[in-house]
Amino acid sequence: MKHKPKLGQNFLIDESAARRIADALGDVHNETVVEIGPGHGAITALLAPRTGRLICIELDRSLAAELRFRFRGAPNVEIVEADVLTVNLSALRQNAAKLHVIGNLPYYITSDILLHLCRHANAIDTAVVMMQREVADRVAAAPGVRDYGVLSVSVQRHADVNTLFTLPPSAFSPPPEVFSTVLHLRMRDRSAGLGEIDDAAFTRMLRAAFAQKRKTLGNNLRAASFSIDQIGAACVAAGITPNLRAEALTLEQFAALYHALPSPGGIS
Ligand code: SAM
Repeated sequence: MKHKPKLGQNFLIDESAARRIADALGDVHNETVVEIGPGHGAITALLAPRTGRLICIELDRSLAAELRFRFRGAPNVEIVEADVLTVNLSALRQNAAKLHVIGNLPYYITSDILLHLCRHANAIDTAVVMMQREVADRVAAAPGVRDYGVLSVSVQRHADVNTLFTLPPSAFSPPPEVFSTVLHLRMRDRSAGLGEIDDAAFTRMLRAAFAQKRKTLGNNLRAASFSIDQIGAACVAAGITPNLRAEALTLEQFAALYHALPSPGGIS
């Protein structure tokens, strides 16, 4: 199979794996499904006959043309030639029902795509997404483990994350150098229980808190220009101590810290 490595093109050739991924979406007969990076259509072909409306977003012009031809007889399938990061996913909703998202993601922009899904979390019910195993481990990591970091907290703020299964390189053509893991994300209301949070400011605070993983939270926040008094007061309000490491904090504690710090959006 011809492929463009720059576009993260490792095509799924393991049919039973493609079926497991499609099945993980559940019953979508009456739903709108958005497929990110359909490629040659390994997952698309399984979903087309069992999806209310299937919108496939593919950046590669020749693949988009190939898919348009292949699914020309399927009125429920739309092929959109675009960079998924520029697509307003919320605008794809045609009624009150939320979107379902699926994709064997291009690995070079996995984190960006996950954050894009988070920005549109209110329009999405579920996402079944495959990515490099190491990235999936970071997304799914719980507090206190080595992989827990900015990506874990950012995604878990918008989604309940479950790890489904892992595939070896031989499931793809050409085989990538890494194993791949499929995650199930159940999106939830972004403000539920955590208060109003500005995405960009929250991300800046997380980056500051995790800046040097071996340093304490207090020292990392000092390096981001907060004073000792500001940090002390915010930690008391959040019910934590500044000598913890960021990796020990739960999502709820990060949200409390965010609300207690003076203008966290001021971190550059
Ligand atoms: N779904 C197919 C499969 O499982 O065989 C292909 C998966 S391949 C890992 C990733 C796909 O995403 C490729 O078809 C690639 O062209 C496409 N892609 C890369 N960057 C993209 C972007 N920014 N927006 C949409 N699609 C993209």
